[in-house]
Amino acid sequence: MSEEDQPLDCLIIGGGAAGLTAAVYLGRYRRRALVLDAGGSRLGWIPRSRNVPGFPDGIEGRELWKRMQDHAVQFGVPTQATRVDTLERSAEGLFTARSRDGAWRARYVILATGARDIAPEIDGLEDALRGGQVRFCPVCDGFETQGQRVAVLGRAGHGLRESLFVSNFGNHVTWLAMESEEEVAQEHLEQLRGAGIQVAGSAPRIIACGEGRGVRVELHSGQVLEFDTLYPALGLQHHCELATALGARACTDGQLEVDAHQQTNVDGLYAAGDVSVDLNQISVAAGHAAIAATAIHNRL
Ligand SMILES: Cc1cc2nc3c(=O)[nH]c(=O)nc-3n(C[C@H](O)[C@H](O)[C@H](O)COP(=O)(O)OP(=O)(O)OC[C@H]3O[C@@H](n4cnc5c(N)ncnc54)[C@H](O)[C@@H]3O)c2cc1C
Repeated sequence: MSEEDQPLDCLIIGGGAAGLTAAVYLGRYRRRALVLDAGGSRLGWIPRSRNVPGFPDGIEGRELWKRMQDHAVQFGVPTQATRVDTLERSAEGLFTARSRDGAWRARYVILATGARDIAPEIDGLEDALRGGQVRFCPVCDGFETQGQRVAVLGRAGHGLRESLFVSNFGNHVTWLAMESEEEVAQEHLEQLRGAGIQVAGSAPRIIACGEGRGVRVELHSGQVLEFDTLYPALGLQHHCELATALGARACTDGQLEVDAHQQTNVDGLYAAGDVSVDLNQISVAAGHAAIAATAIHNRL
């Protein structure tokens, strides 16, 4: 059997922050690995990240993504552009991934397929994301909203928690509750009041007004509110299906359960980054990937 016919040591499905970090580690452990990536990393939506260690002046998400791809290639792990449709595991424990472009066999798999932000209907959403008037991640960039008028759009529970979180950055927060404020306990409404958060029940139409001109919200009542920044808090859809089809356990929102080495309950199947249980951050994704890659290296 030629080397080409041999199964890979590790197949990495997903080539964003987690998948490419795993690629660097496995390449430097001199393992045969390959990244298969559908090209939709959340890195591509980051106008400028300012919390990645080593980049105090920030770095554009696309630039960081490109550097990570080059880094992995430098240590011998390329990325092939394709979307994996199915993942199977044989009785002997060998994995086979298939896409319209081919099939790949591997002894271990790291699933690093990430997540997708559930976006509200906003006129001009894509430009607003690139311009920073609509932001998805207050953990990432709440710091940048100091002194601003900020709206948080989300239903009870999620919307409420995010409003409280965002209000810690010295800004003026309004919770657009999508008619869910009646589901919120009195003590939580008092918490909101205590934090100086305004509540506006409905938000039928949201318009991003162009770079530097914020977001306009037209309420049912006819009232118009204007904000510098809007955070949708509608949740994430985690891309866990390839793993759950093999019997991997996931939480209700689709984040995969993993052990201390990032292994799912399916032997040999690891998960890293946003798709596994934890905080959705670049440095967390990189940490997961380092742990998973090293655990796999030690088993090979
Ligand atoms: C607007 C925005 C701003 C952000 N700002 C920051 C920030 O400042 N700091 C920070 O730490 N984090 C930030 N984040 C979060 C950060 O981008 C993510 O936490 C990080 O990218 C997660 O890495 P990942 O590898 O898990 O997923 P991703 O980077 O999203 O990569 C997953 C990859 O898997 C691919 N994929 C999915 N399914 C398949 C399949 N079936 N076959 C093949 N490939 C597949 C996807 O196409 C994608 O390329 C931000 C996110 C957004 C949306």
